[in-house]
Amino acid sequence: MLSGKTALVTGSTSGIGLGIATALAQNGARLMLNGFGDVEAALAHIRRHDPKAIHDGADMSKPEQIEAMIQRCERELGSCDILVNNAGIQHVAPIHEFPVERWDAIIAINLSSAFHGMRAALPGMHKRNWGRVINIASVHGLVASTNKSAYVAAKHGIIGLTKVAALENATTGVTVNAICPGWVLTPLVQKQVDARAMADGVDIEEAKRRLLAEKQPSLQFTTPEQLAALAVFLCSPAADNIRGAAINVDGGWVAQ
Ligand code: NAD
Repeated sequence: MLSGKTALVTGSTSGIGLGIATALAQNGARLMLNGFGDVEAALAHIRRHDPKAIHDGADMSKPEQIEAMIQRCERELGSCDILVNNAGIQHVAPIHEFPVERWDAIIAINLSSAFHGMRAALPGMHKRNWGRVINIASVHGLVASTNKSAYVAAKHGIIGLTKVAALENATTGVTVNAICPGWVLTPLVQKQVDARAMADGVDIEEAKRRLLAEKQPSLQFTTPEQLAALAVFLCSPAADNIRGAAINVDGGWVAQ
């Protein structure tokens, strides 16, 4: 379905980003990965579907590196048709104890990076009159939780940014939407499970159960594969007129 299209997924060496990159490659897109950690393992995984997949190590907190990555994508893959703004980090602390440096990093990586990515990628999408921007927000773009001030602010911000970008491009072939996952068991959440186990003096399985029971009525984690299938759908012609949406995949979290 996506053969002839190129996709750049930020933060795709792990978790949700790697899941989305995999599904896009399985559907025929040419891939540029981004992110830190085990780059070789992520590339090897994606190359089973896209043997020519490449990786760019841009730090998503650095606007000039984001711009250079989009330019490299256009130069080496021929275009940047699908941009998935997924890279993200978390830090948990009450506002009066929140490290300023963590606030700045979360706003830069979880919010500003999407602005810089779109700023650089939209002109190419306009030229071809086709593009898909998928911003990985969160249920925390729709509702709040304690101790996540920077994350909640960034995720609410990215939903607003998604709406503006969708409106600015509403008469073009470029759509911009956000996906809002609830709990997904990735390294980002495993840290919170571990902290919960430690704080409550319970084992990891019980900590997972408690985390889910607090917020996610289905009592099931959303999977990267489920989010990836939605991303592929948003790239399909059936989604041509879905614009500025924030779609929650959260086991009922925000229905409460
Ligand atoms: P993860 O920790 O598994 O992956 C994060 C990815 O971002 C990694 O590839 C990492 O290398 C990359 N990254 C981090 N900082 C970066 C930087 N400065 N520059 C470039 N890459 C960087 O996390 P995840 O759970 O897969 O999260 C992915 C996205 O989904 C995030 O935006 C997160 O907020 C969002 N999300 C996650 C959940 C969840 O429950 N896991 C829920 C809602 C939203």
